[in-house]
Amino acid sequence: MAHTIALAGNPNSGKTSIFNELTGSTQYVGNWPGVTVEKKEGYVKGDKRHIIVDLPGIYSLSPYTLEEVVTRDFLIDGKPDLIINVVDATNLERNLYLTTQLIETGIPVLVALNMFDVIKKNGDLIDTKKLSGLLGCPIVETSAVTRVGLKELVKTAITMVEQAESGGKPATFSAPVEKTVTSIMHLIEGKVPPETLRWFAIKLYERDEKVMQRLTLSEELHHQVASLVESSETAMDDSAESIITNERYEYLTNLTAKCHKRARQAGSLSTSDRIDRIVTNRFFALPIFFLIMWGIYYIAIQTVGDYFIGGIEWLFGDLIGENLAIGLERIGTSAWLVGLVVDGIIAGVGSVLTFVPQMMILFFFLALMEDVGYMARVAFIMDRIFRKFGLSGKSFIPMLIGTGCTVPAIMASRTIENQRDRRMTVMLTPFIPCGAKLPVFALLVGAFFPHSAWIASSMYLLGIIAVIVSGVILKQTKAFSGDPAPFVMELPAYHIPRLKGVVIHMWDRGKQFIKKAGTIIAVASAVIWMLQSTSWSFQMVETQESILASLGRFIAPLFAPLGFGTWEVAVATITGLLAKETIVATFGIVLGLGNVAEGDPNLLSSIGAYFSPVSAYAFMVFTLFAAPCAAAIGATRREMQSARWTWAAILFQTGVAYVAALVVFQIGSLLFM
Ligand code: GDP
Ligand code: MG
Repeated sequence: MAHTIALAGNPNSGKTSIFNELTGSTQYVGNWPGVTVEKKEGYVKGDKRHIIVDLPGIYSLSPYTLEEVVTRDFLIDGKPDLIINVVDATNLERNLYLTTQLIETGIPVLVALNMFDVIKKNGDLIDTKKLSGLLGCPIVETSAVTRVGLKELVKTAITMVEQAESGGKPATFSAPVEKTVTSIMHLIEGKVPPETLRWFAIKLYERDEKVMQRLTLSEELHHQVASLVESSETAMDDSAESIITNERYEYLTNLTAKCHKRARQAGSLSTSDRIDRIVTNRFFALPIFFLIMWGIYYIAIQTVGDYFIGGIEWLFGDLIGENLAIGLERIGTSAWLVGLVVDGIIAGVGSVLTFVPQMMILFFFLALMEDVGYMARVAFIMDRIFRKFGLSGKSFIPMLIGTGCTVPAIMASRTIENQRDRRMTVMLTPFIPCGAKLPVFALLVGAFFPHSAWIASSMYLLGIIAVIVSGVILKQTKAFSGDPAPFVMELPAYHIPRLKGVVIHMWDRGKQFIKKAGTIIAVASAVIWMLQSTSWSFQMVETQESILASLGRFIAPLFAPLGFGTWEVAVATITGLLAKETIVATFGIVLGLGNVAEGDPNLLSSIGAYFSPVSAYAFMVFTLFAAPCAAAIGATRREMQSARWTWAAILFQTGVAYVAALVVFQIGSLLFM
C-alpha cells in the first residue's frame, strides 16, 4: 500500500509551489468530501509508493474555519504517515505556531524551512540544527523558487516514512498548565490512540467542542475534565483557550530567540516594507489599486481580448455554424435538426466561448498579481473598508472580477477560506453588473435616455450599494451571523513571479469555464431554442405561437406591477437566464426590431410600445439583480456544493430584483408621470 505524506502549512508559505515541484504532472485536483475546499493529490515524481496530499493553508488547528476542520480531521482520522510542514522562514515565529500543533498530533513531522533564498538574501541567520533539536524533528532548508533543498526534502521524507519515525518534541507550557494537561491525559487514557493523547488532552483543556463531541465522554468524565479546566482558569485568571495560545507563543518566542538572528535592526525597513508604505497607504492605496485594475481590464477586455473576440465569433458563426448548416442540409438533415444544432447549440456555446480569451488574459494578470504578492495587499486594504460593514475584505476580489463576468467571479470566491464569507460572496457577487448585462443597458439607454451617461453608470453604484446593504441584512440571519473570519495574514514579501506557476494557475481556473460551456450551456441553448421554435404539440411554429410565448403570457402578469407586463418582455426575462445578452436578441425577435443596432432611429418607436422611460429603468434594475445566467447559476451550484444553497441564492437575488424594480417603478411613476 502506498504511504501518504501530508503537506501542511500557513497560506502563502509555498506549499503549492513545493507540491507542484514534488509531484510534477501526476497531480489530481478534487474537493474534500462534502465541502468546496480544494484537495490536491499526487504521487512523488517517479515513485508510486508515496502519495502527497496538499492540505488547505491554515494558521492553526483550531476549529474556526472550514479549512482548519478539514485539515485536522484528515490528520487525526486519515493518519498520514508523515507531515511535511512547509514553514515560511521569513515569518518563523508565526509559522512555527502551527508546527507545534502538528507535532502534538503525534504524527512524524518533517519541516521544510522554505523561502530560505529570501533568508540568505536578507542576511538573516537561522541555526537550523539547533531549531531541529529543539523541535525534535528533522528540518530541510528549501526554496521552491531556486529548487534548492527539494531533492533532500524528498529523500528525508521517504527515509522517515520507511523507518516509521516517531513524532517530534511537543511544546511545553507552564508547570501548572502542564499539570492539568497531564491529569486530563490520565482521565482519557485508553479512549484515544496513545500517540494522539496529548493533542486530545490539550483540545479538551481548550474546551474544543468538536473534539468533545467526538470523544463522547461519560457524564462523569466530562465533569471531571470540566472542573480541572475551571480550577486551572481560576488559578491563572484567564480563559483556558487564551492560556494555551499565550503560552504557546511564549514557548516559541524563547525557542526562536535561541536560533534566529535577523540581520536588519528592528525598525529598519525591507524593500517589501517600503513598497507597502506606498501601496497600502491610507490615501494612495485605492487610487493605485484602481489604476492597476483599470490597466488589467484595459488590456484584457478592451485591447487584446477584443481582438480575439472577433475571431471566435467568426469561428463559431461563420466558419463552424454556416459550414455545418450547409453540410447538414446537404446530407438531408431535417431543417429542425439543423436549426437545433446550428442556431441553438453552436450559437449558445459559441457565445459563451467568446469570453475565453478575455478570461484567460484576465486570469493571467490576476494570477500574476497574486504571485507577486499584490493581491494579498488588496485584500488587506479592502478588509479595512468592508469590515466596517461586517463583510470580508476578500469578498472584494470576486466582485471586481464580476464586472467582467460573474462566472469566474464566483469561482474566484474560492480564495475565501471561511465558508460563511464564501457563501455570502457567491450570493452577492452577481449584483455587480457583468459585461453581458451591458448590451441590455446600452439598448434601453439608447432608446430612452440617449443623452444621459449616468443612467448606465448608476448600475454600478446600485450594484455596490446592494452588496453592502444585503451584506448587512444577511449578517442578521443565523446562517451568516458572526464576524468575518479575522484577517490575520501577515503580508508575504513581494516575489518575482514565476511564469510556470502563473500559467498553471490561469489554466486551472480557465479550463473549468470551458468545461461548463460544453455542458450546461450546450444543453440550455438547445432547450431555449426548442422552446422558441415549437408549439406544445411539438410542431415547428412562429415564435408567436411557441411554447416560449405561452410561457411568457403565463408569467407576464407577475411583472405588471414593475411596469413591464407584456409577454414579450416577460419572455426576455426567461431567455435572459441563458445569457444576459439573449435579452437583447429576444427583443430583436419578438419585438420585431430586426437587427437591433444602438442608435437606430426606429428603435424608440418599436420598443416604446413596451416600455416607458421609468419602466425601462425598472427593467434595467431587474436585469441587474435577478438570478444570473445559467453559467453563473452553474458556477454557484458548484461552489455552494448544495442544491439548497443554490436555490436560496437564486431566490434571494430574484427577490431583491423584484422589490428593487417595484420600488423604482412605483416611486418613479409618482414622480415622473
Ligand atoms: P501556498 O499558499 O502555501 O500554496 O503558497 P504558494 O506556493 O502559492 O506560494 C506563495 C508565493 O510564494 C508564490 O508567489 C511563490 O512563488 C512564492 N514562493 C514559494 N516558495 C518560495 C521560496 O522558496 N522562495 C521565494 N522567494 N518565493 C517562494
Ligand atoms: Mg496553495
